[in-house]
Amino acid sequence: MEKTTVLKVEDLDYKYGSIHALRGISLEVNEGEIVALIGGNGAGKTTTLRCISGLLDAPESGNISFYGESIVKQKSDKIAARGIMQVLEGRHIFSKLTVKENLSLGAFNRQADYASTLQYVYTLFPVLKEREQQEGGTLSGGEQQMLALGRALMSKPKLLMMDEPSLGLAPIIVRNIFEMITKINKDGTTVLLVEQNSKAALNIADRGYVIESGRIILTDTSNNLLNNEEVKKSYLGEK
Ligand code: ATP
Repeated sequence: MEKTTVLKVEDLDYKYGSIHALRGISLEVNEGEIVALIGGNGAGKTTTLRCISGLLDAPESGNISFYGESIVKQKSDKIAARGIMQVLEGRHIFSKLTVKENLSLGAFNRQADYASTLQYVYTLFPVLKEREQQEGGTLSGGEQQMLALGRALMSKPKLLMMDEPSLGLAPIIVRNIFEMITKINKDGTTVLLVEQNSKAALNIADRGYVIESGRIILTDTSNNLLNNEEVKKSYLGEK
């Protein structure tokens, strides 16, 4: 069957003033996939996601298209309305609003099926239902990550982009979040996952890209990357 390309990034170059953060990034995400973008500190992972979401100024050069249409010069609210949602690194929930209020804010575009979408999020993360009246800021780190993910799902995105969901979380919580990402994907949402925890990311992804100093240095199926000697040594902590 023909694959439908959801996201296509072509030769993307981005500079923060004199800092050349992305040097010709190209990647693709097909419908139904989980794609992992892995790499070390400062490699350009967050910058790539922020360029896609429209959270940064327009790039120096290159193109980003979503279902075949260029979105590279669009504003972030337009891009979100098209169906691209990014769960930011560090979660950024509203700490003084309740869990339910945080979730409601995520449903900016679909009031008609609000109740069933909320139910879906509560089924994925029962703890959010239990704590729906609690202030977001009082949740544990893992619960806040669940809330940030739940809030992104409230708009029923076509492409969910996650920036380091494992950051600062205990291994058992990371496992739970990654199982939920797999479930969300099986339920029909395409996922682009940025992670320093390369092993966890590749374990659930179909394919991966390795980014180093603003360039993609390698791309392959997750299985091949997990067995690649260079990747093992540099990114998986194996000898
Ligand atoms: P990490 O995993 O550490 O978050 P990353 O792969 O997400 O890293 P980016 O945050 O995309 O990396 O950063 C890429 C490069 O751009 C780095 O050299 C970083 O110092 C630089 N950079 C990021 N944000 C800014 C900014 N606002 N101003 C200037 N330089 C920046």
